[in-house]
Amino acid sequence: MTIVFKVSDNIKKKMIEFYKPFYKEKTPPYAVFQAQNTDVVITLYESGKVMFQGISADIESSIWIDQEKRLNNRVIDINDKKKDKKETKKTFYNISTIGSDEVGTGDYFGPIVVCATYVSKENIPFLTDLGVRDSKKLTDDKIKEIAPEIIKKIPYSLYILDNKTYNANHDNLNMNKMKAILHNKVLTTLLKKDNYAYEKIVIDQFEYPKKFYEHISDAKEKIRSVTFLTKAEDQVMSVACASIISRYAFLKEFKKLENELHTILPLGAGNEVDKKGCEIAKTYGLEKLEEIAKISFKNTEKIKTMLKD
Ligand code: MN
Repeated sequence: MTIVFKVSDNIKKKMIEFYKPFYKEKTPPYAVFQAQNTDVVITLYESGKVMFQGISADIESSIWIDQEKRLNNRVIDINDKKKDKKETKKTFYNISTIGSDEVGTGDYFGPIVVCATYVSKENIPFLTDLGVRDSKKLTDDKIKEIAPEIIKKIPYSLYILDNKTYNANHDNLNMNKMKAILHNKVLTTLLKKDNYAYEKIVIDQFEYPKKFYEHISDAKEKIRSVTFLTKAEDQVMSVACASIISRYAFLKEFKKLENELHTILPLGAGNEVDKKGCEIAKTYGLEKLEEIAKISFKNTEKIKTMLKD
């Protein structure tokens, strides 16, 4: 998988800092650096163009797409050039669907939240009028305004994976396996609630279908006949609703953590996060991070190093 987009100057600086420990010896022509982070090769060019190559290119790049959104309010659509986009839009937008999405997998602090919803054809105009779209394209205030309205109207199933549980399970599960298990969980739970007249079950694709089914092979109940779509939040109303409800629940949990720690926590996984993590570890001890953060992220090592200095 290869993902290419242009980053802003402030993000460029952050990337240079972030990938320094992973720099490769040789730098390609016109590149600022080339780095290898587990299975992804990252090349940043002087022009600001950045290229992610490898199996987890989507996950690695999502960190920076997120940063662009959060710091610059810039939305990067990596599927911009897809010719069949309009075609898919028509196919999925106006039918009854069940869909799922997750939030928090790129944030060091806070839980992972997964949600599945059922949106019948009849509810689509109501949701469109409400302004439902991909949660990444909505402000937090808008999400807080419309999520309660969505929840009143449509059936959903929500699961919050708190940090303690995440940290206890992460050693045996990689992030994609964890996501697959969680999507499977909310989808099967929702399907048991009623006999919904859906035409398709859609997951916002984060893994190859074959891999997805491998990941859930140990689950008691398994979802079948899933349509995997990239950028599904834009094309499928149930996925858009799932992304909004997940985000809404995530924001609430995040606020709880902030209140408990009497501080403002940064989102994402950048330098600000390291600084804050360091501060928290100094006040409450390093163990505190187990309760509030995703320990498997590289931030933990950086925090430990910072504490030594
Ligand atoms: Mn998603």
